[in-house]
Amino acid sequence: MTIFRLVNPVQHYDWGSQKAMSELFGIANESGQPMAELWMGAHPKAPSMIMTDDQVALNALVDGQEEHLGKGSLEKFGQTLPFLFKVLAAAKPLSIQSHPNKQQALDGFAHENQLGVALDAFNRNYRDDNHKPELVYALTPFRAMNGFRPLDEMWPLFEMAGLRPLEEALSWLKKGDIKAFYEHLMSLEGEEKDQLVTAALKFAEASDHPAWQEVNRLNQFYPGDIGVLSPLLLNVIELIPGEAMFLKAGTLHAYLEGTALEIMACSDNVLRGGLTSKHVDVPELLKTIEFDTIALSDLCLKPEAEENGETRFVSPVDDFLFSVIAAENVSGALKVNAAEILFCVEGQQVIKAGEKSVELTPGSACFISAATGSYQVVGKGRLARATAIL
Ligand SMILES: [Zn+2]
Repeated sequence: MTIFRLVNPVQHYDWGSQKAMSELFGIANESGQPMAELWMGAHPKAPSMIMTDDQVALNALVDGQEEHLGKGSLEKFGQTLPFLFKVLAAAKPLSIQSHPNKQQALDGFAHENQLGVALDAFNRNYRDDNHKPELVYALTPFRAMNGFRPLDEMWPLFEMAGLRPLEEALSWLKKGDIKAFYEHLMSLEGEEKDQLVTAALKFAEASDHPAWQEVNRLNQFYPGDIGVLSPLLLNVIELIPGEAMFLKAGTLHAYLEGTALEIMACSDNVLRGGLTSKHVDVPELLKTIEFDTIALSDLCLKPEAEENGETRFVSPVDDFLFSVIAAENVSGALKVNAAEILFCVEGQQVIKAGEKSVELTPGSACFISAATGSYQVVGKGRLARATAIL
């Protein structure tokens, strides 16, 4: 067998939506808990399960197996599936965060091992030695903060509020030193920090500027957290359904609200700078941040139309390749280079390879082994396809 229907675990993080996954995909929520993420992959923390006579975890099936991962994938990415694919449904903002690049992850992981910090310790930053670039594809309007705004947007946003505690630091920002400004902001403590946040919120309440309104909104979820000022520093973007953006290593970001597909390299390395009850490590965060700016209009990935009804969203990393397939427009077989996961976004499709076929309806997914070679898609609606680039 080369195509397997997946049963995917749900993560009930507190920022998750109670109803988005039920409304979009009919996934029952009897307990009424938030349903934050649906994981599709072979991550040992919460692997997908394969439905055969026995239930088998996907990592148990594929890790180290050339038949499933493919020779090229084993050589390039190691013993496990190189990506993790998710449905993410946020009802409230997630932590403000950055992810390390490969070298930083290698160094950080080795260093924390040397210090003897347990892998599952609350204060562990590096849980593995891999980078964690991410790509999100909006299923509903999806709001997020991603990357530093252009300088000529950033400093006027602070200046218009006349925040006295930031007067000196603002002069550094005007000269282009985002790093010095951000380090100063994140180092404020006690009364100094409280005074700044209080003054900022006073301005935010009266302001009709969207960035300042976002400050106000964040403060409702995380009152008094210095991270509520992030919308002044970062681009605030709303993806429309069908748009995608990339989040590279070292980019400060936070998801705010909405449902999306997310694909990332197989890693759990997150450095947080607030808006969370999880571990925050500002010095380590500052080591990984790239202090360059990006215009809002440059954030979305350009979709590239391929044959067979496929539209690719190409990012700068090889660990994953994300594309969307319009099933009606598939005319020939789709070629498999490495292990794949297909997720049905809408409609209904039958995925066929030789004798084996799996029927997909919205919210369901299947794993396709590298050895499958090629497969057919019959049906209508939209499939999301995740694989790696060899
Ligand atoms: Zn992230």
